[in-house]
Amino acid sequence: MTLDQYDFNGKKALVRVDFNVPLDENGNITDDTRIRGALPTLKKILADGGSLIIMSHMGKPKGKVNPKLSLAQIKDAVAKALGTEVKFAPDCANADQEAAALKPGEVLLLENLRFYPEEEGKPVGIDKADPGYKAAKEEMKARQKEFAKKLASYADVYVNDAFGTAHRSHASTAVIADSFDADSKMLGYLMEKEVKAVDNILSDIKRPFTAIMGGSKVSTKIGIIENLMDKVDNLILCGGMTYTFAKALGGNIGKSLCESDKLQMALDIIEKAKQKGVNLVLATDCVVGDDFNNDCNTMVCNVDEIPEGWEGLDAGPVSREAFAAAIRPAKTILWNGPAGVFEFDNFTAGSRAIADASVEATANGAFSLVGGGDSVACVNKFGLADKVSYVSTGGGALLEAIEGKVLPGVAAVKG
Ligand code: AMP
Repeated sequence: MTLDQYDFNGKKALVRVDFNVPLDENGNITDDTRIRGALPTLKKILADGGSLIIMSHMGKPKGKVNPKLSLAQIKDAVAKALGTEVKFAPDCANADQEAAALKPGEVLLLENLRFYPEEEGKPVGIDKADPGYKAAKEEMKARQKEFAKKLASYADVYVNDAFGTAHRSHASTAVIADSFDADSKMLGYLMEKEVKAVDNILSDIKRPFTAIMGGSKVSTKIGIIENLMDKVDNLILCGGMTYTFAKALGGNIGKSLCESDKLQMALDIIEKAKQKGVNLVLATDCVVGDDFNNDCNTMVCNVDEIPEGWEGLDAGPVSREAFAAAIRPAKTILWNGPAGVFEFDNFTAGSRAIADASVEATANGAFSLVGGGDSVACVNKFGLADKVSYVSTGGGALLEAIEGKVLPGVAAVKG
């Protein structure tokens, strides 16, 4: 079933969204992207004449009530975004009356699902090494099923529009789908868009395909790098992981970020790229600083000749041009992770070169997908988010999908 096929008139829809928005110390929302992202789905249901029961998590309360992570804080912002009043259920697992009283066009927001440990389904207060852990886990899984059934009992139809948590098999993202038949569960518009964007990258590839992997560490990106190796024509590896490669190749990297236990992994990646005929683009020069801050002294040097006491903080001019040359002619582009410490204004040039080349390629007809928290922050910082084809809202979920893993949140609905 799809959202467009379903007529919500007179139905109560339970919608899992990702309203895990950042708040300042006074509980004010500092970035409402996630609320805006869910609006098309929520508005479609209301426009059909349905009523909405919205559920989400916020932060990591670890199964305990924590007023600082209460969704009551965002109720008014949701009401404003929807243009209608929003009621609030202060206990998500005891909202029968509020749900039953909902009339068409009305909206109920449930309190943070993660105030209950059943949402995540992980046993609390017991270590994995404890002999009783297995039994505790089974007991928690049973409780998770009951919790999911309770949530399901509020509504006629279930919609999952929370891509950010689609890689988790939680009560509200996956287990709950068992309580609805195939005709009354579906993905929301945001989820549909995200799944389609990943599909463009994984199966509908127009060549050349250039992937750019940056960020701090090679170890957290190894799964995706390995999967992409079978698909891409050009693979740019940049950011902090540059120096693990430079060290593995025998260079001097000063005090740059380095995963000393991953040197062999770096050499294996280089070898694999050769075997598969992938054009691996690594930085050859970099901007180094004598301290980890925006105003430190800087100079440009080769990645394998970094003096003692200096660290690589951005890609150098030769590397920036090499990155751009591999991106400009591409017809499919995937970018995850910045090329330098872009949070510092003086070290944005590498990421900026990638963003500019991606924008240029997109204008020439490429499909470009930018995903993962930091690269999204990067294109937002440069004001270029609307000049690439798709900016994903999912961090971990996006990476796991591109690694080729099945997302439980999608599988539970689609079967
Ligand atoms: P990740 O979470 O692994 O995607 O890494 C993102 C972070 O990597 C950002 O906060 C960047 O500041 C950081 N980063 C990128 N390049 C470097 C570098 N050369 N040295 C230290 N950190 C970096």
